[in-house]
Amino acid sequence: MVLIDTDMSDSLVIALSKGRILKETLPLLKSAGIEPLEDLESSRKLIFPTTQQNVQLIVIRATDVPVYVQYGGADIGVTGKDVLMEHGAEGLFELLDLHIARCRLMTAGVKGVAPKSGRIRVATKFVNLAKQFYSSKGVQADIIKLYGAMELAPLLSLADEIVDIVDTGNTLKANGLEPREMIAQVSSRLIVNRSSMKMKHQMISPIVEQIEQAVQKSITA
Ligand code: AMP
Repeated sequence: MVLIDTDMSDSLVIALSKGRILKETLPLLKSAGIEPLEDLESSRKLIFPTTQQNVQLIVIRATDVPVYVQYGGADIGVTGKDVLMEHGAEGLFELLDLHIARCRLMTAGVKGVAPKSGRIRVATKFVNLAKQFYSSKGVQADIIKLYGAMELAPLLSLADEIVDIVDTGNTLKANGLEPREMIAQVSSRLIVNRSSMKMKHQMISPIVEQIEQAVQKSITA
């Protein structure tokens, strides 16, 4: 049975993003004295106790992290800037750039094919960001929401371009696509629920400070 402390006033919930961000987040949490008591990746649990009795971790999809933090289901969260830009900043503070899981949000299209003029179709999971980007350029774009494997869309003529995360560019290359324009540089951010920041300031601020010091150390190393 999972025991969840019902008096949440003296406890903290930290929401972590599954996948590649998680691995890079754990050393930063450790620097603030917070370590999970079991292996997060091999467990099927969703909520984990830590070495600090009043701190629990939840491990969820990156896109759900700002939702939990906005509504106070979690006090603190770690997720990508791409996810935050798409979600919006309502109800939360973005306190730190953690300088981890760095990548770029880009447009891409079929290699060697000139960008189409006039109205285009764009496949992406970043619907809001894509709308803003193309309208800022004065390009009429019909946005098609996909949840994954965006690279397929131009290959099967579902879309003229995609908007997606690019790291090494290998995924684009392997699918005959090429990067076109950069929309934003992305890295993971530490976010805090606005009312937790007031009500639990004494618990949250030392954690944020210790993580900030660890980030500074890692970027100057
Ligand atoms: P790459 O082939 O190295 O360009 O990686 C691109 C693929 O990895 C895309 O499918 C992205 O969704 C995913 N990806 C790369 N970096 C990140 C990141 N920092 N956060 C989330 N997804 C990423």
